Amino acid sequence: MKKILVTGGAGYIGSHTALALLKSDYEVVVVDNLFNSSQESLTRVEKLSGKSLTFYQSDIRDKAALINIFKKEKIDAVIHFAGLKAVGESVLKPLAYYQNNVEGTLTLVEVMKECGTNCLVFSSSATVYGEANQPPYVETQPLGNPSSPYGKTKAMVEQILMDVAVSDPEIKIANLRYFNPIGADASGQIGEDPNGIPNNLMPFVAQVAVGKRDKLAIFGDDYPTKDGTCLRDYIHVTDLAVGHIDALTWLLKQEQGCCEAFNLGTGEPLSVLDIVHGFENFTKQTISYEFSPRRSGDLPAFWANSSKAQEILAWQPTKSLQDMMEDTWRWQSNNPQGYQN
Ligand code: NAD
Ligand code: UDP
Repeated sequence: MKKILVTGGAGYIGSHTALALLKSDYEVVVVDNLFNSSQESLTRVEKLSGKSLTFYQSDIRDKAALINIFKKEKIDAVIHFAGLKAVGESVLKPLAYYQNNVEGTLTLVEVMKECGTNCLVFSSSATVYGEANQPPYVETQPLGNPSSPYGKTKAMVEQILMDVAVSDPEIKIANLRYFNPIGADASGQIGEDPNGIPNNLMPFVAQVAVGKRDKLAIFGDDYPTKDGTCLRDYIHVTDLAVGHIDALTWLLKQEQGCCEAFNLGTGEPLSVLDIVHGFENFTKQTISYEFSPRRSGDLPAFWANSSKAQEILAWQPTKSLQDMMEDTWRWQSNNPQGYQN
């Protein structure tokens, strides 16, 4: 049985991926500093899977601690989620973002090389395409120049990983470029639990529905789109989690080193109003909203061409908009205060 280290495994996407790994009979070791998460997510993952995982509360930038974990656990492959992810905050605190996301990855890859682990799945983002590329984004387009320090860290890490792969014929890397992950495990037991006021659309909508926030502000109603609001490619977090298993399975089978990027999205652009009305339709909740000025840095529209993941990884999203909305609501209404309940 292969043993997988999941950095940032207590977080939103990491906890869903840890669950998918356990269900697929991988052994799971999680390293997380709990900066933006709670260990309760992992307790619930263990309950849902009926299996246990090993947890280390540690920072990936602590090289000595990481080496000890690799030596003790004999890790076969790494899925690397740990990092900071708030676009707006990254403009105010760029150094924290470069330190955590870039330096953290450098430390992790150094330790992997020192300990002979050569398989890595990295959490990248559609933001690496920047504004110069036209949607649908496809992996043959060049890396762009993302507007925020957060986006720049993702593009930088992809560049670094490509250079590492050129220098090391053994190392195998998949850079997974996520579009907009939403939803929650169908059990309603694990989901997205942002600290403070949510930056992202879906958790904000869910918190309005549960009465935790008064009103959604929709950023911009004058974009050149069908209803004036931005278009994005929303993907169910469970489909995304399965994408990690597919990427891992593919990497483990490769006989030669490689570094490949894969888009993970549905390919279907939806507007902010599609999401608000979809949520209302499928959950029978009412969402109060008002239009407010555009949010700086938002692109009008982008979505994925995910043919490469479908052809090479045999990955296919299976969840509908209805699943995304119902699962979000099951999680939020069961856990109005997130994991603090
Ligand atoms: P999250 O904040 O829920 O999870 C990240 C986890 O990493 C948290 O549990 C946090 O405590 C941990 N962490 C942060 N820095 C750490 C460090 N130095 N050492 C150890 N643990 C650390 O975020 P998420 O939404 O699950 O995102 C996971 C990854 O996917 C991130 O790298 C993010 O940039 C990327 N991503 C997310 C989205 C999205 O919309 N959620 C989109 C594209 C890419
Ligand atoms: N959005 C919004 N109100 C919010 C949060 C987001 O109107 O409170 C819009 C945002 O302008 C964008 C879309 O919802 O058009 C998705 O934003 P999110 O932050 O979830 O993801 P992004 O695509 O920026 O990574």
